Amino acid sequence: MAVTIAVPSVDPMVVRRAPKVLLHDHLDGGLRPSTVIDLAHQTGYADLPTEDPEQLGAWFRQGADRKSLELYLEGFRHTVGVMQTPGAIERVAAECAEDLAADGVVYAEVRYAPELSTQQGMDLDAVMAAWLAGFRRGAAAAEAAGQPIVIRAIVTAMRQFARSVEIAELAVKYRDEGVVGFDIAGPEAGFPPSRHLDAFQLIHRADFHVTIHAGEAFGLPSIWEALQWCGAERLGHGVRIVDDISQDAQGRYTLGRLAAFVRDTRVPLEMCPTSNVHTGAVASIAEHPVDLLRRLRFRVTVNTDNRLMSGVTLSSELELLARTFGFGLAELQWLTLNAMKSSFLSFDERLLLINGVIKPGYSQLMAQEAAASPTLV
Ligand SMILES: [Zn+2]
Repeated sequence: MAVTIAVPSVDPMVVRRAPKVLLHDHLDGGLRPSTVIDLAHQTGYADLPTEDPEQLGAWFRQGADRKSLELYLEGFRHTVGVMQTPGAIERVAAECAEDLAADGVVYAEVRYAPELSTQQGMDLDAVMAAWLAGFRRGAAAAEAAGQPIVIRAIVTAMRQFARSVEIAELAVKYRDEGVVGFDIAGPEAGFPPSRHLDAFQLIHRADFHVTIHAGEAFGLPSIWEALQWCGAERLGHGVRIVDDISQDAQGRYTLGRLAAFVRDTRVPLEMCPTSNVHTGAVASIAEHPVDLLRRLRFRVTVNTDNRLMSGVTLSSELELLARTFGFGLAELQWLTLNAMKSSFLSFDERLLLINGVIKPGYSQLMAQEAAASPTLV
């Protein structure tokens, strides 16, 4: 008689040690609460609701979880409020790289809208210089700590403002210093991506990369415009693509034209499950379409969006999905490879990380898992 000693499919420590790839994370959504307080003191920012780091972290999370994208975005007033000097931006960027590396992230693309840091007169180039210097410093510190990370920047334009062409030019200008793409973010309703066609065309003509926040708070038309008018290579969230998938009485799924296009052309979906629940895009994690889309073989990736506001790390987010949907290491590796293949890093660099870091890392964890669950005869 064979007896199998069951091991839980989810061990948080294993998820944490697994090599992970993050494509959708906001620099101004991932500050340490203690850093927000320090920077407020240093820069004379007086509007924080509390000066206790624990209470402040809780305040951000409660503020985020109000089922509205517009309300979710309110917490950024304070993080952006303290990111108005080069020193503050460099510190936030360095800590971002260190925190992600400590969580086992081996490659990350972190985005920010530099126009938000010009409230006290800093110019866009100064913001970029500080941001990229911070990434270099943080990556060097992570390497020295034995947890190397490759970290790149995505430059975001705010969809409700009118500076997207200038911001697109900025993204291209810094492409050899660590910027890998361009994005638009902010409130979706009333601000369709096609308002920024000139910016997207500038990016395309420069042979550069575009991802667009679409299909989060707003439905299929936003996704369609992002892909077919604006040439997005990836979709930020894209969660509403499920509106174009139907199920018949026998349980079979049928894809509409847009969903079929997204799957056929392997458009990566930068899914951020907890953030989607907080903004009300999805009612609960159990109802999140990430698992359905995975089973239908869409190019699904899992991301944090805003680690401070949503109170998550990439490990916690993957562990939550593993617990909810029964993912094991094989599914986590699939999601990680999807993300690495979908990154805006050069093909050669992607291959190096896939073959040199990600696959060996998962092989080792799978071997350890197999050794820890022997079949006794
Ligand atoms: Zn986002």
